[in-house]
Amino acid sequence: MYVQLPFDDLKVNPNEKKRVAYFYDADVGNYAYGAGHPMKPHRIRMAHSLIMNYGLYKKMEIYRAKPATKQEMCQFHTDEYIDFLSRVTPDNLDLFAKEQIKFNVGDDCPVFDGLFEYCGISGGGSMEGAARLNRGKCDIAINYAGGLHHAKKSEASGFCYLNDIVLGIIELLRYHPRVLYVDIDVHHGDGVEEAFYTTDRVMTASFHKYGEFFPGTGELRDIGVGKGKHHAVNVPLRDGIDDATFKSIFEPVIGKIMEWYQPSAVVLQCGGDSLSGDKLGCFNLSMSGHANCVNYMKSFGVPLMVLGGGGYTMRNVARTWAFESGLLNNVILPSELPYNEYYEYYGPDYKLDVRPSNMYNANSPEFLNKILTNIIANLEHTQHAPSVQMNHVPRDAEDLGDEEEDTREAIDTKGGSQQARDEAIQPVNEFYDDEDKDVGERDVSVQPTKSELTAEEEKELEAMNQDE
Ligand SMILES: [Zn+2]
Repeated sequence: MYVQLPFDDLKVNPNEKKRVAYFYDADVGNYAYGAGHPMKPHRIRMAHSLIMNYGLYKKMEIYRAKPATKQEMCQFHTDEYIDFLSRVTPDNLDLFAKEQIKFNVGDDCPVFDGLFEYCGISGGGSMEGAARLNRGKCDIAINYAGGLHHAKKSEASGFCYLNDIVLGIIELLRYHPRVLYVDIDVHHGDGVEEAFYTTDRVMTASFHKYGEFFPGTGELRDIGVGKGKHHAVNVPLRDGIDDATFKSIFEPVIGKIMEWYQPSAVVLQCGGDSLSGDKLGCFNLSMSGHANCVNYMKSFGVPLMVLGGGGYTMRNVARTWAFESGLLNNVILPSELPYNEYYEYYGPDYKLDVRPSNMYNANSPEFLNKILTNIIANLEHTQHAPSVQMNHVPRDAEDLGDEEEDTREAIDTKGGSQQARDEAIQPVNEFYDDEDKDVGERDVSVQPTKSELTAEEEKELEAMNQDE
């Protein structure tokens, strides 16, 4: 079943017109987790600088989203956790000794200045991206400040506090009967999987390193429970996976999901720690190998939200996200980096590329064949996708008994949040009701700031681009 595909140059269709909405808040690069912490929001600013200096602002709409409010955050997270995030600061930390333990805030997830504002920016971008996709105001939404997939309902985890992805998907579910979440971060997308583990309205597919690696979840046999059974896909990989191998597992898995599950919206988490040479990662993807996932996902023409995520070798994350932004706008960016305020980070070559190393690929064809065969067999249960609606789908007699038990267990042990929302859901025909906004729905009627550049800067960039 597993066949190694050739890895060719990436192709775009310059005549294809996609409306791309790009979300960026200039404040995001100012937040710092603390000296020596591997997570650096500055990389988002570096990526933005490349994106602007390559002239992509001429191709897409650039927005600064309203920060997510406490009320919006509580659509997934608990009130007391969000209340804690909004009140704790490095100065009053002593007053929250008990809460720090309870909410897992400390070493990996430190309390830093502006933590709550940082969460608001990340969540606001993903929620507004989803709202614009819902209203048909764009085909693709990008938010590199988002993608923080480890955050739990009432717990910080793995450098993530607010799960902007879950909030964005909840927004998409107001209009979309089925949403697919795809995660190419080197770590398992545990927070998102857990949030939707008991529902068939969201399918999660995570490709990650498994085995003595954070967060320790994401086994092949974890496929969801209750109504969500067969709607969680886990692709546990070993060290050193390269471009051709990743493509050869990614494309058939995603291809089958698109064919059988038929999602009406897709969220793609583009964690950059799966790149070769990442400080924390152990994969061997080049920039093209990573970007191939973005290009392949885009090829289905389904409304797409593209998010950031991990990524700890900043120059490579910035390069890759800039290149991928180009692809999403049907442009292959030239390899000569334009001059930008962080130019010195890209020496000695100053090129737009992340090259693979000669590290050993521990993913044998036999191992991948086992994974692929198993996943395809599971996915067959989702084959009648168009009938997977809000209404209950009749199942096999033997499945019925398990389901209630599974679901009860899942609500107790996992988040179970979507289960509660599904039970309180409106009928199918209300999905596309555009007239009156739901309570709590993101309002996108206000046009946010067009561009982060002044008219002067835009002219300067135009002139620079014409010189070439
Ligand atoms: Zn990661």
